[in-house]
Amino acid sequence: MTKLSMQNEILSRARGAFIGLAVGDALGAPAEFLTRGEIQSKYGVLRDMVGGGWLRLKPGQVTDDTQMSLCLARAIRDSGGWTLTGAADNLATWLKSKPIDVGDTCRRGIRNYMLRGMVETPPNEWDGGNGAAMRTLPVALYTLGDPSLLESCTLQHAHLTHNHPLSDAATLYLGRLLHLALTGRSMPRLRREVEQLLALYPNFHFDPYKGLATGYVVDTMQTVFHCFFRSRSFEACVVETVNQGGDADTTAAIAGALAGAYYGEEAIPARWRKKLNKQLLAEITELSGQLVRLSPFFKVT
Ligand code: MN
Ligand code: MN
Repeated sequence: MTKLSMQNEILSRARGAFIGLAVGDALGAPAEFLTRGEIQSKYGVLRDMVGGGWLRLKPGQVTDDTQMSLCLARAIRDSGGWTLTGAADNLATWLKSKPIDVGDTCRRGIRNYMLRGMVETPPNEWDGGNGAAMRTLPVALYTLGDPSLLESCTLQHAHLTHNHPLSDAATLYLGRLLHLALTGRSMPRLRREVEQLLALYPNFHFDPYKGLATGYVVDTMQTVFHCFFRSRSFEACVVETVNQGGDADTTAAIAGALAGAYYGEEAIPARWRKKLNKQLLAEITELSGQLVRLSPFFKVT
């Protein structure tokens, strides 16, 4: 493959990842906090952007998962590289804008930055939520080609709000999986990466799947792994994830990012993509390209 066609393929996968994140968020949000049984009796199989849910969303409307990712992405783009305070400032501006939803741990961390200038929340055994993992995609795009840069940027942004070994492990390994998927690696290769995580932290074992899809990062990642590795298309992966219920917008946002990177932009169903806000779609499309073009992968190849 020529350098140019390799780069074009990565750009498509990067757009797929960011659009996939937003699509998963918007599709899953109406099912957030429902059980599998409740989704089944209400929708049969939820496979369309219906809106509603506890946040009373418009069809296609995204929530904090996409919005926090945008905060990080814009910070990196605006400074032309990694900036922890830039990311924290954007999150602070976002929190002040009274977002439709924000997790308690995220709110606490961002408020500690606003009030005390804290950029690292102290270790806390209750910080095992999925709030760091759900916003990590932009960092994976920007650090493509440099595993140690991925690690340092990931831990910095994660610790703004979550300082917990399982959150760290999940967020870091999600970044590594995104790097592999963005560069066109195979499903078995991604599976091997997850095996490494399981060897270090057996909590993440997902086979047999326990059927928990809560906001606890262990449950979240088990759900993402279960749905991603058993499906064979972007659509099947995201539908499977959403219909587990629980923290459905966040599990589907993460699964959507991973599946979008793996299957590429073209694999995202048009009926979902069309429901996203046009301005949002244009911005995430542009940001995806801008972030990977800033990455070490594009600088050295
Ligand atoms: Mn959300
Ligand atoms: Mn959520």
